Amino acid sequence: MDNEVLKNVKELIEKSSNIVFFGGAGVSTASGIPDFRSATGLYNKKQNTAYPPEYMLSHDFIVKHPDQFSDYVRQNLIYGEAQPNGAHKALVKLEEQGKLKAVITQNIDGLHQKAGSSNVLELHGNLTDYYCIGCKKEYSQQEFCAHNGTFGCTKCGNVVRPKVVLYGEGLDMSIYWTAVKFVQHADVLIVGGTSLVVHPAAGLLDYYHGHKLVLINIEKTSEDYRADYVLQGDVSKILWDLID
Ligand SMILES: [Zn+2]
Repeated sequence: MDNEVLKNVKELIEKSSNIVFFGGAGVSTASGIPDFRSATGLYNKKQNTAYPPEYMLSHDFIVKHPDQFSDYVRQNLIYGEAQPNGAHKALVKLEEQGKLKAVITQNIDGLHQKAGSSNVLELHGNLTDYYCIGCKKEYSQQEFCAHNGTFGCTKCGNVVRPKVVLYGEGLDMSIYWTAVKFVQHADVLIVGGTSLVVHPAAGLLDYYHGHKLVLINIEKTSEDYRADYVLQGDVSKILWDLID
């Protein structure tokens, strides 16, 4: 950890009142939620199924195998006991101080809201909210988890699914463009816990026009060259150190 860089970024944060944070899976790993692609991630976890996880999280799969999809989500994606860590808490503090304008996240765990952040833009949806694909009646995670296999809508009998963006489905573009607007107008942009390889992560950076781009990640990213400040390490620890 470069203490000089940490000190400089701390100063940026102290002086700014227009910070935007954009985060990925690395933000939640310290809360015990595995990421997708690392060695200990979900995609490398041994499953007793022949299907690759990317396929099990696809639109095609939920249509063809709603039973298996629903059980896969319950068993592998929902971490009801997970608690916010230092990264989530630091962002809440910055929002309370009027410095942070938005949290943009690729995560679907709802931990930013659980920590107390109010302006959270979830690019990939979340596992907190559920709806019927037929009549759109809404359900809670608790209701979804109280069932095995397909949870049929109590009103029309259709499949109830989480409000996540699956492979083969488009992003909610109104959320995406709101995120773009925050990035465009940000003074300081802090990007944390993402290797920036997944679309639209790297693309979102293109909209930032400032010269205070801070990248925090456990390992080097392909976009480090664009950053004005690079902090390598655990984002849950570094973000907390930055506001301490
Ligand atoms: Zn229904």
